[in-house]
Amino acid sequence: MSNEKLADVRLVAFDVDGVLTDGRICISDEGVESKTFHTQDGYGMRRLLEADIVVAVISGRTSAAVAKRMSELGIAHVVQGCEDKVAALDQIIARLNISRAQCVYVGDDIPDLPLLKHVGFAVAVANAVPALHAQCDHSTSAAGGSGAVREVCELVLGARSQTSR
Ligand SMILES: [Mg+2]
Repeated sequence: MSNEKLADVRLVAFDVDGVLTDGRICISDEGVESKTFHTQDGYGMRRLLEADIVVAVISGRTSAAVAKRMSELGIAHVVQGCEDKVAALDQIIARLNISRAQCVYVGDDIPDLPLLKHVGFAVAVANAVPALHAQCDHSTSAAGGSGAVREVCELVLGARSQTSR
């Protein structure tokens, strides 16, 4: 695992369904959607922010629960209903004046592949479709919604503290 690639990370971006959640979408009889997030993932994202690493969430779907949870965590870069994830990330990094090589992206399915190939360090969660694992720099031990996000946060923070020693 190349921790060198992680030493200069400025932004960590996450897919939502299957990464921040276990991929299941609950829809009530009234059509109201709900999602389950892991508190340990939230704490990891907060730690990234405290370490001055930008956190972004880029989702193909749109959910009020995602907006609410990310606002709770103080995450400013939330892109939902996104049809072109590469373009969405490029917009964010242009605003921040950082390079795509300084970005980590975490995904679980084929729609994430173009963005995974675009960033400096690509991560597949344990529950990602098989095709993704082969194309990523790293695969998590934990599954989406069960600590995969926290695992990536610790990996990034660990690489940073190692190089600043
Ligand atoms: Mg997904």
